Amino acid sequence: MRVALVWLAILLAGSVAACRGAATPTPTTGAMGETTASAARRLVVVTSIPIFATMVEVVGGEFVEASAVMPPGTDPHTYQPVPRDVAKLAVADLVVYNGGDLDPWMERQLEATGSRARVVVLSEGLEPPPGVGEEEAHAGETPAVEHEHGVNPHFWLDPDFGIIYVQRIAEGLAQVDPARAETYRANAERYIAEIRAFDEWAKEQIATIPPERRKLVTFHDAFPYFAAHYGLELVGVVILSPGREPSPQEVAQLVERIRSEGVPAIFVEPQFNPKLAETIAQEAGVRVLELYSDAAPAGTDYLGMMRRNVTNVVEGLRG
Ligand SMILES: [Zn+2]
Repeated sequence: MRVALVWLAILLAGSVAACRGAATPTPTTGAMGETTASAARRLVVVTSIPIFATMVEVVGGEFVEASAVMPPGTDPHTYQPVPRDVAKLAVADLVVYNGGDLDPWMERQLEATGSRARVVVLSEGLEPPPGVGEEEAHAGETPAVEHEHGVNPHFWLDPDFGIIYVQRIAEGLAQVDPARAETYRANAERYIAEIRAFDEWAKEQIATIPPERRKLVTFHDAFPYFAAHYGLELVGVVILSPGREPSPQEVAQLVERIRSEGVPAIFVEPQFNPKLAETIAQEAGVRVLELYSDAAPAGTDYLGMMRRNVTNVVEGLRG
């Protein structure tokens, strides 16, 4: 069974690689009748962005093989799916993505495969905490980011929501593989305890930043929940949404805002060209550091990414 699937995956990957650049993806529907989990092999879990795959790996342990559609360091908002993605999704037992305007192409790609995989939409039905996101982040005076359905999709950067993601992954795995449901739930519980321990450490770290310096300017609007959770004021963003460059006037307004609010640093993200942020930082006379939201350095898991974010925020703002 597993061998057959592996061969099928290789065949599919080969055939779509051969016709890369063709107008339409190679149809795979119908070839993948069998996606039911069997006790004899590992569950194949496919996520949209790599950071979710690292969560699945912790919850699924040795019983899952998790991977992401997107390569590390890529921006999911503007991602253009390639035929290889369809082949990947076609062999999945469980598909995990965020939902909202983070990874809207996932739903379309899933339809294209005719996949029968169970699907977990991590942010489904989540509501921003009271008061968060009502005053949207802005560059200068410009009113901000338009998110589809009006909800900012970056919930996992607040560890309270990260815990909900972990619980949803555990339930998804338990439904696909009921025989190991207890294992997945126990793994999730251990992981949640680790996330809580991280959160306590993070709050102690943030507390070392003088209150008047707890001001955040990020590259794209990914951090409203993170900022609210840790009592940071989100003063502005460099780009209003991925793929939309600010006007020279908006850039000037942001520089002015950074100066007048006394924001100590601004933060770039690896999936975006840092040039514009570097120019803004130079004009405003502040430092540039890195934060991770939709893309983390290769080999970094969810908690590793969160720790680096907190460490960098403290380094950038504490002074
Ligand atoms: Zn984003």
